[in-house]
Amino acid sequence: LGSLAGNIYPLLAYPLNACNGFLVAILIQSAQGASSLPLTFVIVGGGPTGVEAAADTHDLIFDVLEDDYPNVDFGSVRVVLLNAGDNILKGLDAPLVHAATRRLASQRIEVINDAKVEEVRPDAVVISDGRTIPTRTTIWAAGIEPPPLVGNLDVQKDHRGRILIDQYLRVKGRPGVYAVGDCTSLQYDGSPVPALAQAAEQEGQRAASNLAAEIENKAPVPFRYRSVGQLVDLGEGSALVDILGVNLSGQLGAYVWKVVYLYELGYDLNRAHVLADWTIDLFTRPDTSKLFEDPNQPRVRT
Ligand SMILES: Cc1cc2nc3c(=O)[nH]c(=O)nc-3n(C[C@H](O)[C@H](O)[C@H](O)COP(=O)(O)OP(=O)(O)OC[C@H]3O[C@@H](n4cnc5c(N)ncnc54)[C@H](O)[C@@H]3O)c2cc1C
Repeated sequence: LGSLAGNIYPLLAYPLNACNGFLVAILIQSAQGASSLPLTFVIVGGGPTGVEAAADTHDLIFDVLEDDYPNVDFGSVRVVLLNAGDNILKGLDAPLVHAATRRLASQRIEVINDAKVEEVRPDAVVISDGRTIPTRTTIWAAGIEPPPLVGNLDVQKDHRGRILIDQYLRVKGRPGVYAVGDCTSLQYDGSPVPALAQAAEQEGQRAASNLAAEIENKAPVPFRYRSVGQLVDLGEGSALVDILGVNLSGQLGAYVWKVVYLYELGYDLNRAHVLADWTIDLFTRPDTSKLFEDPNQPRVRT
């Protein structure tokens, strides 16, 4: 049990690992007869990913697991979202941020702003102001770093190790080489390019057409990022939607979120699959049978 407890989970290994952490905490608690061990789940990062993780963690614990563990004191369960900025969901319009803040508060999710995480220990998270939150499960949603392959490339990079590219998406100092997506840093006079799928897709299309233009001796076209909006899932029956300046939240947001999600899946077979899953979910509870560590999941640091 000890080796499973006290892990930091990268978000890709989520949510089953949160489930693991919860079960492990409960097992240790009952095995040692100690009721004071923290049933606290800390999510680091107040962006869309962290907010979604916090809301989903809440739903998993209180809508699913609570029924399974009648002997556990669910009143002592804490879900804490630590955010380095002065507000969550930076970049979204204020009404949507307020809607999200209200929703998280109604779910008893503790949002702590201006909280820069200094250290993650097996049994606690330390904030830069000296506060310590006892926890055995920390979920990291505060940013990404390029993979080792990019780290080993002999090309110019920014301070975060991302490949520097010019406005045509060409790797700086490497004629004929293009790079796109999360592992790149575009320095140009247009809107900042976030680490999002929509940005990676737009860059991919532009890089492909510029590469074709280069082969045909035509002029390349500079890249311009256009945000088509943001969707943030806030758990059961609630989502934030910001599409082309239209803001929605709550249940209506959740309906639009589902429609956009289905549309973006791209293939009818995938859509049918997801639609069937959602329909089944209306009548069943999530499968919590897989509760133990999968060695093939992304590596976990302790
Ligand atoms: C939890 C989470 C939620 C997100 N939600 C959203 C969202 O709602 N909307 C949104 O727009 N974006 C979202 N994102 C961000 C989005 O997933 C990324 O911005 C997008 O996937 C970036 O695309 P990419 O092609 O640059 O990188 P990736 O999608 O990460 O693709 C990189 C690929 O390269 C492969 N690879 C790595 N190293 C090697 C190697 N050495 N050899 C061969 N292949 C290799 C990887 O296996 C991977 O398939 C989310 C991200 C996370 C983690």
